[in-house]
Amino acid sequence: MTEASTDTPMIRVSAVDKYFGSSHVLRNVNLEIPRGQVVVVLGPSGSGKSTLCRVINRLETVDSGSVLVDGNPLPEEGRALAELRADVGMVFQQFNLFAHKSVLDNVTLGPTKVRGLSKSQARQEGMRLLERVGIADQADKYPAQLSGGQQQRAAIARALAMRPKVMLFDEPTSALDPEMVSEVLEVMAGLAAEGMTMLVVSHEMGFARRAAHRVLFMADGEIVEDTTPEGFFESPESERARDFLSRIL
Ligand code: ADP
Ligand code: MG
Repeated sequence: MTEASTDTPMIRVSAVDKYFGSSHVLRNVNLEIPRGQVVVVLGPSGSGKSTLCRVINRLETVDSGSVLVDGNPLPEEGRALAELRADVGMVFQQFNLFAHKSVLDNVTLGPTKVRGLSKSQARQEGMRLLERVGIADQADKYPAQLSGGQQQRAAIARALAMRPKVMLFDEPTSALDPEMVSEVLEVMAGLAAEGMTMLVVSHEMGFARRAAHRVLFMADGEIVEDTTPEGFFESPESERARDFLSRIL
């Protein structure tokens, strides 16, 4: 991988189109995210938010256009792809933890396989990350023994264990009981404050106002607004954004 200079955007999505069969789900999407920026993505269901995350993480290919992460194009397969995925941490709505592995094993698996850490190094680092997300005392339990909020924090620790350059969050609190939302947002806000580059699909407006530098509003596969949190919530420009906000506020 080439060494990127500090003014290379962390993420550069250029003229990306993506189809599923005949449905055009990303339409000429252009997006540059500088390092350290926190971007919240909002938009109605089906507008392409998850697909945008998935093309950045190379879980989906694009039909045209390009995606660069820290200046590097997306490799097609193999070792380089595993390494690129390690650069891009992803946290999903459904925590996607390995059910038959302990919380700590969930966190150490990737680093030992992809980053070549020894088991003891990975465990040491894993425990540090579990402490950071506030669940070190759950290390030896299985995911099903944890609350939803704890599972999602474990998923964040697992993603961080790969030492990603950027973190993608796809509706990380949507599957949680309301009382567990804030403990997860707290961890995310902490990461944002430490300078992590983040793309966060979430309708949590409190988080957007507090932690985001920028808000994108998507509709029908397009980025319709790209502005500040204040700009978006106080004075959305498009009819579609106003309509969306009137339904979620
Ligand atoms: P959002 O996350 O904003 O709800 P998605 O990115 O999940 O939107 O979906 C955008 C569109 O692409 C939707 O119409 C959805 O049905 C479609 N879609 C998403 N994933 C697939 C897939 N794997 N196969 C076919 N269609 C898909
Ligand atoms: Mg989605």
